[in-house]
This record gives sequence, structure tokens and C-alpha cells, in this order.
Amino acid sequence: MKFTTSNEIDQIIHMIELGLEEHSKWIKLWNSKAICQLPLPDSYLDKKAYQDCDFAKWFDRCSKENWLHQVDFESISSVHKSMHEEARKLSDQIHKGETISEEDYYKFVNFEWSFSHQLQKLKDKIARLQISFDPLTGIFNRQALMPILMQEKAYIERDGKQCCLAMADLDFFKNVNDTHGHANGDVVLQKVAGFLRNNLRPYDALFRYGGEEFLFCLPNADTDSGKRLLDRLRMDIEKMPIKVANDTVISITLSMGITQMLPKISIEDSIVQADEALYEAKNKGRNRIMVYH
Ligand code: GH3
Ligand code: MG
Ligand code: MG
Repeated sequence: MKFTTSNEIDQIIHMIELGLEEHSKWIKLWNSKAICQLPLPDSYLDKKAYQDCDFAKWFDRCSKENWLHQVDFESISSVHKSMHEEARKLSDQIHKGETISEEDYYKFVNFEWSFSHQLQKLKDKIARLQISFDPLTGIFNRQALMPILMQEKAYIERDGKQCCLAMADLDFFKNVNDTHGHANGDVVLQKVAGFLRNNLRPYDALFRYGGEEFLFCLPNADTDSGKRLLDRLRMDIEKMPIKVANDTVISITLSMGITQMLPKISIEDSIVQADEALYEAKNKGRNRIMVYH
């Protein structure tokens, strides 16, 4: 599963909750009709119910989203179909005034339990991914760094791919806090992180490395193309008016250092290289990007 912001995860969790809600309405209605021996709505007798129920409609709406294409959902989808099949058999028996056997009833109950349990588990699994995100900016935190960089390093070693790492640090950020207050400083961090995230390529990763430091992982980029990409972002940030409380507008600049990840250089050392290049950018007067040599 590849998610790039905590906001995306929140939205998916919300969608799964809606799916669970639809299912809960469906099962409650079936139980009440079956137990009270009332006629069941035709929808329960329909062979295509598993395609037409509200959960299926929800599922259909989500199917355009790439997070759905994964094993968990294949299994949920199959259990969902079996559950409907059993519900239809029981509903048919009720309809004909026949007695339902305990065995058949448990078969249905087990499918129903498995379905809602799996959906709930998927929701929990996705919710756990939130620990990889920084609560203030919504981008990846340091905890998410190693697994992602290790994967990129493997591509470099195995497939000879290129990847750049860049470290960015806001210039004179302490002044922002001192002049406008910490809360407004937080807003600046959020807006800068949001802008960077939204303007990277889809397969780039952005991490909040420290207080006002960001680390970029740029796959399929050499230092020339990586520098061009980041320089464009740097100039956009420089021009960007950042609105904080009381209609105050703050301007900020970024210094950056970029390096190419190499097969023989450890991830930790590559980060140090990016940091050294950043240090050089600061020394040279800030608001610029330097390449590690
Ligand atoms: P330089 O150009 O050399 O980087 O100067 P600077 O002022 O940005 O550097 P310095 O490291 O002295 O200050 C970084 C500041 O970032 C200090 C710290 O209070 C602030 N900071 C770190 N994390 C946060 C945060 O989460 N919110 C806010 N508002 N400020 C933060
Ligand atoms: Mg700084
Ligand atoms: Mg700093």
C-alpha cells in the first residue's frame, strides 16, 4: 500500500467506516425480519444481491482508487459474495415457510462475522500506517524513512537505477517564531510541507526529518534533474505568500543540499552527504541548492 499523506489515510478509513455502516444496516434488517418471521425484502432473495447491495455500491465507488487493489480486498470481496449466497438460501427457506437448520444458520453467521471482521481488520491495518506520518505537516516522519530508502537502495544496487537524496532547511526560521509566534511558525511549516508534497512527482517521497528540516527521496533522478526540480520548488516557495493568523503574510526561503545515492555508500552516509551540501548552501548565503561533491 502506498500512501503519501496522513490525510489520504483518514479519507480511506472514513470510506471503510461508511462501508461497515452499510453492512451493519443490511444485517440488522435481515435479523429483525428473520427473527420476527416477517417477509424479507426481495433484495435478500436476489441472486445478484452481492452486486447490488449498498456495500457493493460503496465497493464499486472505491474500486477506482488504487488502494483497493490488494489482497485484503480480494478476500473481503469473496467472503462478501459467500455471505450473500448463504443469506439468499436462508431467505428463500424463510420465504417458503421452511425451518432453517442450525448448521445452515451458523454457516451464514460465520461468513457474516468473517466479512465484517476482515473489513474492520483492514481498517485497523490502514490506521496503523498513521504512525509513519508527522501529525503537524501530514507528510512522512522519520520513522517511515528507512523502509522507503532501503527499498530505493535495493533498486540502485540490483537494477542500476538512480536516486537522489536532498535535505532542505528553512532559512532563519527561528526569526519567524520570534517575530510571529510559534503557532504561526507551525502554519508556515504546514504550508511549506503541503506545497512541497503537492508539487513533487507522484513517486517522490518527502519526510519531515527534524524541526524545520525536510528530506526528499527522488527516484529516477540524477543530481542535475533533481537539482532542477528542487530549484523550481525553492523559487516557488520564495515567491509564495504564506498567510497566517490575522491576515499576516510571511515569506520564507529554503536552503538545500542534494546528493546521489550510490551502491557503495550507506544510506546513513548519503544523508550525511546531503546534509553537508545543505551546510554549504547555508554558508554560501542561503536560499540556494548545492550539490554534494
Ligand atoms: P538557519 O537559516 O541557519 O537554518 O536558521 P534557523 O533560524 O532556521 O535555524 P535554527 O536551527 O537556529 O532554528 C530552527 C528553529 O526551528 C528553532 C526551533 O524553535 C524551530 N522549530 C523546530 N521545530 C518547530 C516546530 O515544530 N514548530 C515551530 N513553530 N518551530 C519549530
Ligand atoms: Mg533553519
Ligand atoms: Mg535546522
